[in-house]
Amino acid sequence: MRRFIGIFLFLMSITWCEARHFSTVVIDPGHGGRDGGAYWGGVKESTLNLIVAQKLAYELKSRGIKTVLTRKSDITVSKSRRCEIANKYPNSIFVSVHFNAHTNKSIKGIETFYLSSEGRKIASQVQPRLISNLKCKNRGIKQRSLHVLSGTNSPAVLVELGFISNSAERARCSTQWYKTVAARVIADGLMKYRKQP
Ligand SMILES: [Zn+2]
Repeated sequence: MRRFIGIFLFLMSITWCEARHFSTVVIDPGHGGRDGGAYWGGVKESTLNLIVAQKLAYELKSRGIKTVLTRKSDITVSKSRRCEIANKYPNSIFVSVHFNAHTNKSIKGIETFYLSSEGRKIASQVQPRLISNLKCKNRGIKQRSLHVLSGTNSPAVLVELGFISNSAERARCSTQWYKTVAARVIADGLMKYRKQP
């Protein structure tokens, strides 16, 4: 019995290692095409998501990591299709990029969602870096059974990079600086997760 437990723990450790020492990041720019996501003050969420996702791909490639985008232009991609794409890549992690909105225009800040325990570890590396570098209100990391988190086999997170329904935050989110820094520090967080023992 002890031998079986030993083998089980060994196999689990291989799985964990693979998850952390990922070779590919599947980057998912939320919405697109017929679904523009949130739209406030002339700013469309799907456009912001794609720009940050492309910058994130650039940052990761420069660190020697392979990247896959679930969309590369303003096209409609279903949530199921996004999961299908992600599940084609073994030894990968999944990062969905979004901006937020609320009918209460005073609400602002950044939050990161996860579902699995490995997802939580990624969120724990990404969220604090976003807060300290972008100087935004910390809405924390939250466990949520979102479609792209439950439908993907790999460790996955969904980042909500600020509320475009808040006029001050929308102005900041729209700058090149904000999108570039967001992408860079998400990449930093993923690399830190990858190096964890
Ligand atoms: Zn969204």
